[in-house]
Amino acid sequence: MKRMITEYVYDFSKKNEPAAKVKPGEEVKFKTLDCFSDQIKREEQLVTSLDFDKVNPATGPVYIEGAEPGDTIAVEILSIKIEDQGVVSTLPDTGSLIANAETRTKIVPIREGKAIFNDLEFPVKPMIGVIGVAPREGSIACGYVGFHGGNMDNNRIMEGSKVFFPVNVPGALLQLGDLHATMGDGEICGTGIEIAGEVTVRFHLIQDFPIERPVLETHDDWYTIASAREYTEALRLVTEDMQNLIVDAYGWDATDAYLYMSIQGNVEICQGCRPSSWDIILRFSVPKIEGKPLII
Ligand code: CA
Ligand code: ZN
Repeated sequence: MKRMITEYVYDFSKKNEPAAKVKPGEEVKFKTLDCFSDQIKREEQLVTSLDFDKVNPATGPVYIEGAEPGDTIAVEILSIKIEDQGVVSTLPDTGSLIANAETRTKIVPIREGKAIFNDLEFPVKPMIGVIGVAPREGSIACGYVGFHGGNMDNNRIMEGSKVFFPVNVPGALLQLGDLHATMGDGEICGTGIEIAGEVTVRFHLIQDFPIERPVLETHDDWYTIASAREYTEALRLVTEDMQNLIVDAYGWDATDAYLYMSIQGNVEICQGCRPSSWDIILRFSVPKIEGKPLII
């Protein structure tokens, strides 16, 4: 029987008690709250009235048996089911157009795979905003992003994707939450269609394969993911990670990898909301090549 995880935490830490212990290959279902812990039900409720100790919950953590520091875990996303109502909101002092915007909550109904916004409807593209593993030491709130993953707001983390994380502590302690029915690149107002749901995943363990930061495999592409306060540093990290993967997998030298990345790779923005208190999050893609995986 599939394991269902219903415990919530607000930080990534090895001190969090595992909600379950699972074996690689096992399927696990996570029941997730939206990023406001499902506190908003009506448009009259503004974000300014919320209990902010209760934002960005993640479901878990799950202990993956056999995962040890120096290993990598892969999280294969088998399905993302979303509820029939989401919420998008402006956030105080956040985003490029906030100076002339109201504080507004908008309820977005979801019907038959479409989101309904005013007189428009468009297809949902469910994604996972927060997903990651415990850091080696200390605690990182679920609203933050880093080498451990966290609030990456990467709209390619969707059904059919596989996300790779460095294992920093025994069992890795994976947790996830913050689903969006849709979210554009950059998330310019600071929220997507925030929504509760259920995510089914399968874990894989890659022993003795250390990575620095999360890596993502989609149907067509490989991505590295990195964040920093400013673009220059985020770009350096995200391209260095990709260069290292290509050098190791293809046996090329660093300069050839660099040249190839300029002609076949793309820099894309996950989180680019400014002004905000968040780091810029970039992803860098190269196409998948038959018979030449960057991670096996
Ligand atoms: Ca988020
Ligand atoms: Zn969110």
